Amino acid sequence: MAHKVVIIGSGPAGHTAAIYAARANLNPVMYEGFMAGGVAAGGQLTTTTEVENFPGFPEGIDGTKLTQLFREQSVKYGTTIHTQTITKVDFSKRPFVLWSDDERIEAESVIIATGATAKRMHIPGEETFWQRGISACAVCDGALPIFRGKELAVIGGGDSAVEEANHLAKFASKVYLIHRRDTLRASQIMQKRAMEHPKIEILWNQNVIEAKGEQQGLTSIVLENTQNKNQSQLSVGGLFYAIGHVPNTEIFKGQLDLDETGYIKTVPGTTQTNIEGVFAAGDVQDKIYRQAITAAGSGCMAALEAERWLEGH
Ligand code: FAD
Repeated sequence: MAHKVVIIGSGPAGHTAAIYAARANLNPVMYEGFMAGGVAAGGQLTTTTEVENFPGFPEGIDGTKLTQLFREQSVKYGTTIHTQTITKVDFSKRPFVLWSDDERIEAESVIIATGATAKRMHIPGEETFWQRGISACAVCDGALPIFRGKELAVIGGGDSAVEEANHLAKFASKVYLIHRRDTLRASQIMQKRAMEHPKIEILWNQNVIEAKGEQQGLTSIVLENTQNKNQSQLSVGGLFYAIGHVPNTEIFKGQLDLDETGYIKTVPGTTQTNIEGVFAAGDVQDKIYRQAITAAGSGCMAALEAERWLEGH
């Protein structure tokens, strides 16, 4: 028999949808993924240490711990969770059909909350200093004590890189914006903001090729000039990647309307996709805010919209 609601993904969006759907007696079934998109079940928050901006935790909370609490709450109210990755879907007829490696699943409605994965550089030292000086989210981590008053570096050349550099400049003594080309991709207004900022220095034609540090964390990075291949060392207390995200939407290609960068398109102000009964919440459909609380908010919307939709069908 078809499940009323199947949720794909297990970050704040998926779990908030699960809590709402479970409390509405819809017996939701969640496929939380098994290292889907390279991220553990629980989502991107499992890749960070301290979360200081999720309401309810005035002292901050460890990212993995927060995801465990989400999961506990989903289960408490009656969500069934499978640690499996959904590998294929068919949204062309109802009930919808989904497949994992082990199962064929039928669903009357589907909430997609598969998130996005921040791109990494995969340079030597990255694994060692990840979350010990290296981060992929300046808005999330920039205000943490380990970065305050330090010289920091941002890698990237688009609007979000400039935005991250501007954000970090509020806390840092200096911010290097490192770009591998000699012009930024960012919009003119953003470029102007970066170039005129007294604390931001742009380092052109540079690749970051290594991260170095000590016991307590990152202390420097090695740069290589893209033109003459000269190498230099730059002392920084933090390195932020702003080189983009990849939404986890591969399995929805050809089934759902995606934008040019692969994000799921939803009807503005809702989580409704182009297929009735299929909803998308969290970072998989949001390339603007990308925060746990906004993901959770849209997960709530998706569950309420699924509930209403099911009532009418
Ligand atoms: P995600 O958290 O991306 O979770 C999606 C989950 O779905 C993943 O576990 C994935 O494995 C799973 N999945 C994917 N495909 C499938 C599939 N086919 N089948 C089954 N499962 C699948 N935000 C904050 O608000 N505060 C912070 O301090 C903060 N710090 C951050 C630090 C870092 C380093 C990063 C990268 C992000 C941080 N964020 C922070 C952002 C926040 O983590 C995201 O905005 C949020 O997690 C998005 O939630 P989501 O539910 O949309 O998806």
